[in-house]
Amino acid sequence: MEAFSYHDGELYCEKVPVAKLAEQYGTPLWIYSKSFLLGQLKQIQTAFAEVDPVICYSVKANSTLGVLKVMRDAGSSFDVVSGGELYRVKAAGGDTSKVVFAGVGKTDEEIRFALENKILMFDVESEQELDAIAAVAGSMGVVGNVALRLNPDIDAKTHAKTTTGKKGNKFGMDIERFRELAAKVLRDKRLALKGIHMHLGSPILTTDPYEAAGQKAIEVVEALRKDGHDINWINLGGGFGISYRGNEGLPAEAYAKVIVPAVKAAKCRLALEPGRFVVGNSCILVSRVVFTKREGGKLFVIQDGAMNDLIRPAMYDSFHRLWPVQPSIAMPDNVEGEIPGCEKTDVVGPVCESSDYFAKDRYLPPMTRGDLLAIFSAGAYGTAMSSNYNSRPRATEILVDGADVKVIRRRETYADLVAHEIDAS
Ligand SMILES: *Cc1c(COP(=O)(O)O)cnc(C)c1O
Repeated sequence: MEAFSYHDGELYCEKVPVAKLAEQYGTPLWIYSKSFLLGQLKQIQTAFAEVDPVICYSVKANSTLGVLKVMRDAGSSFDVVSGGELYRVKAAGGDTSKVVFAGVGKTDEEIRFALENKILMFDVESEQELDAIAAVAGSMGVVGNVALRLNPDIDAKTHAKTTTGKKGNKFGMDIERFRELAAKVLRDKRLALKGIHMHLGSPILTTDPYEAAGQKAIEVVEALRKDGHDINWINLGGGFGISYRGNEGLPAEAYAKVIVPAVKAAKCRLALEPGRFVVGNSCILVSRVVFTKREGGKLFVIQDGAMNDLIRPAMYDSFHRLWPVQPSIAMPDNVEGEIPGCEKTDVVGPVCESSDYFAKDRYLPPMTRGDLLAIFSAGAYGTAMSSNYNSRPRATEILVDGADVKVIRRRETYADLVAHEIDAS
């Protein structure tokens, strides 16, 4: 089933008209297609089946419990980057024994919480972190399982704010330090080296970086085994790109084609941490036009979604397809460039920042007050990054399964906004 498609002049999520949901639950509104979510996970599970991988859905892409539960039920494990995310995995009933924990700044409290929950391994990013894990594990009388995060110095050719595997950014360590720390682990009974971790950046729309990372992994694993390490995991992180504009995303199979042979050559188990690929196109953000205005030679459509809901355009200059829910002109396959009957439009939100926009100079059909707008590809780094900036309550999230509709997060109230604040009177 198509997740989001137009029938008889209006947008549907699976079998449910989007306008009907907006009427019932208000806007802005996040709408997920459950079958799409499951399909994406399945695509990865199938593409990599030959090496029986542990798929750790990356919680930071979208940490809503309703999404995590869908992942858990479909056999996914989880990649977390904070104690809070581990808490969410537990709250969703996830199996913590297959959780991997990445991130450059784990605190002792987070390390202890992870060890108590017997996670699969830490992705370690520095020597001091390794020392901290050893100390906490020692105090608990347990062994800390670690993978060292290698910075492979591979340019994933993605946005400067989302590249992570290139020399000079804060993630991972270079190969010299990697071998040094590996030797240190070998001498320390409180630690066990299980594998090598790399996460190259995101979104990556070619397979070359993964092929290069795979080759690097083979070399490193061989060298480590010579040094006496019982190393048996390669974790290649996440970063698989998706189609934001048209059909630029690759199928999981394409990535598998370059990764699987390397994993087999290294005789290792494979872990992956896909986030965006699974959840990105599973969700739209639906908003309502509040006002339109012409100023400075431009047409502005001001709608009730904002950067506090979806910050990607403001933060990464991201492109999101958007189109009216009940359009007067059918959405073309290519929404970039001039479209007959459409006018160049800036779609902006009500937040008091110039960076509060969803589209600039985009050709869109005429819109008026009250019209509904769908912002596509909003599932990854949307709700997970949403905030209360401008004291805007966070929006409702809806999971659609065929004709079935479930609220997985209710809209915040004004009372919610101040609920945690100490009375200053
Ligand atoms: C962000 C992140 C991911 C997920 O990246 P996607 O592009 O969403 O697949 C995986 N692993 C680590 C360590 C990350 O920081």
